[in-house]
Amino acid sequence: MNENLRKCLNCLSDILFPGNCPVCEKEPYQDGLGYMCTDCEDSLPWISKNGCKFCGIPMSGFDFNGLICAACRDDKPQFLKGKCMFLLDQNGKKVIHEIKYHGVKDVLKDLPRWLDRCGNYREFIEDSILVPVPLHRKRLKKRGFNQSTWIAGALGKEMGGRVEVSDALTRVRDTPTQTKFDRRVRQKNVKNAFALSKKNSLNIKDKIVLIDDVYTTGATLNECTKALNSKGFKNVYVATLGHG
Ligand SMILES: [Zn+2]
Ligand SMILES: [Zn+2]
Repeated sequence: MNENLRKCLNCLSDILFPGNCPVCEKEPYQDGLGYMCTDCEDSLPWISKNGCKFCGIPMSGFDFNGLICAACRDDKPQFLKGKCMFLLDQNGKKVIHEIKYHGVKDVLKDLPRWLDRCGNYREFIEDSILVPVPLHRKRLKKRGFNQSTWIAGALGKEMGGRVEVSDALTRVRDTPTQTKFDRRVRQKNVKNAFALSKKNSLNIKDKIVLIDDVYTTGATLNECTKALNSKGFKNVYVATLGHG
């Protein structure tokens, strides 16, 4: 089937038959609250305490903002700090899948409630410029949307005037999808893949928060940070929905 026709049919079916709870597949808004049903939302592994200061992964023991996990100690990230909302267990993956591969933007209508479940996420991103991790134009054309742009937009809407959203980065190299690669290959794969957009209104002193759907090894977010660092932007943080 022609790609455009497939997209049209998908849009039409989304209007006629809105997607269901990404986890249990019940119809949305059955309990009147969210797109995801309350039971499923309750069951997601929310990250409510401070974890590793770079990747945000929960760490046993203290709720202390200075701890660093083994992976980040071995390979210290370039960004200053990171924050994630939930772990990618089976259900967490379903939520991301619904957005990224099924293109269901409405899942993000629940985002204000997700923020309520995550300690300090609002504080973490406030007074910043949210910069989504860009897709290469070829990939964007094929998929029709960038899930990170959607997430940054949803966060921007929820935060009102306390953040701005800017497509300040561009992907200058089309790279294969990272899903099946290990840490080293991922790093090589995305090396020099990003650059600052020519038309950007960033100020060198801005607090920049890079936005992506998931944090896996951090290779992509790290490479985006390097592109910003190389132009003098040092105040760079990262925030994602999932971790895993
Ligand atoms: Zn459900
Ligand atoms: Zn870490």
